[in-house]
Amino acid sequence: MTSIQVRDLTAHYIVERYGEKKEIYALEKVSFSLNTNDFLAIVGESGCGKSTLAKVLYGEINNQLVILGGEVNYQFDDVVYTVNTSVNEVKKVWWEKLSYIPQASLSVLNPLRRIRDIFSDMLFSHGKVYEENSIVKHLDDLGLPSHILNMYPFELSGGMRQRVVIALATFMNPGVIIADEPTSALDVVTQNEILQLLKRIHRETDSTFIFITHDISLIPNLANKLMIMYGGTLVEIGETDTVFASPRHPYTKFLISSIPRIGDDTEKQSIPGYPPDLSNPPSGCRFHPRCPFSERKCEEKMPPLELVDGNHYVACWKPLKEQ
Ligand code: ATP
Ligand code: MG
Repeated sequence: MTSIQVRDLTAHYIVERYGEKKEIYALEKVSFSLNTNDFLAIVGESGCGKSTLAKVLYGEINNQLVILGGEVNYQFDDVVYTVNTSVNEVKKVWWEKLSYIPQASLSVLNPLRRIRDIFSDMLFSHGKVYEENSIVKHLDDLGLPSHILNMYPFELSGGMRQRVVIALATFMNPGVIIADEPTSALDVVTQNEILQLLKRIHRETDSTFIFITHDISLIPNLANKLMIMYGGTLVEIGETDTVFASPRHPYTKFLISSIPRIGDDTEKQSIPGYPPDLSNPPSGCRFHPRCPFSERKCEEKMPPLELVDGNHYVACWKPLKEQ
């Protein structure tokens, strides 16, 4: 049994430029929970904080990315691992219980090491011995021939490299896998193969998936839960079918209505304005400068995430009516 509880997670980048301190309000009070077998998709425009959330969930905190409040609790069977302002317990079980496929995941593959050595390095760092047979079997399951073990990352195609990264991330059968834009650099055919692969791994193992993309059209038939982020905040989360059928946040509605459909030649409405600069985010609801329904309250106070029905939450002072 696996569960993840995220409560009021707030994390900022604090960087120094030309001797001046700059704070980037990248993640504000994000709360959600997941259970065994959930497949969560996180969607939002570039710069809305998706990768920041992934890094904090994984416990990849550094001097610049600082957790200012809230916490993440992972429960793997009976053991709880916490990430918060003062502890980072989940680091102890990286790869074994929690795996992360970072954006531009090629960085996971050391260009100077053959794939065989990359596997043995990972196993060695966990006190395990490299055993070729089980790796060959695992690669075969993921559609990779064993001769790639002798190859260097640069000798593989983009799709194969992504499969290798997925093979590394899933080898120890972790309970939670976080994948940040694992398909965005690939052509559509390869992209679809990788998505089908992730779906199959999810179905065949008892793992919980967190999948990040800016492309909402990938989500149906992939994820059972959908989270929408805007400007460092979580604006809507619920069952994928419910959110698609009845989005309650105006931004979610814009995103869904922007998906192109064959045969539909009606003009698509684009979202007016630009995403916020997170070093100087808007007051109140961060979407208010672009929202057609904005009122005074929206400018003044950030709306809390509230239950609207079933398992469906929205952070909006004037949620859309159920459809
Ligand atoms: P994309 O879809 O382009 O990957 P994203 O949703 O993953 O975007 P993040 O990378 O989480 O967005 O960035 C959130 C905010 O934090 C942005 O304003 C970004 O400029 C800023 N940011 C990201 N990484 C750093 C960093 N290392 N130092 C300072 N600011 C950063
Ligand atoms: Mg990103």
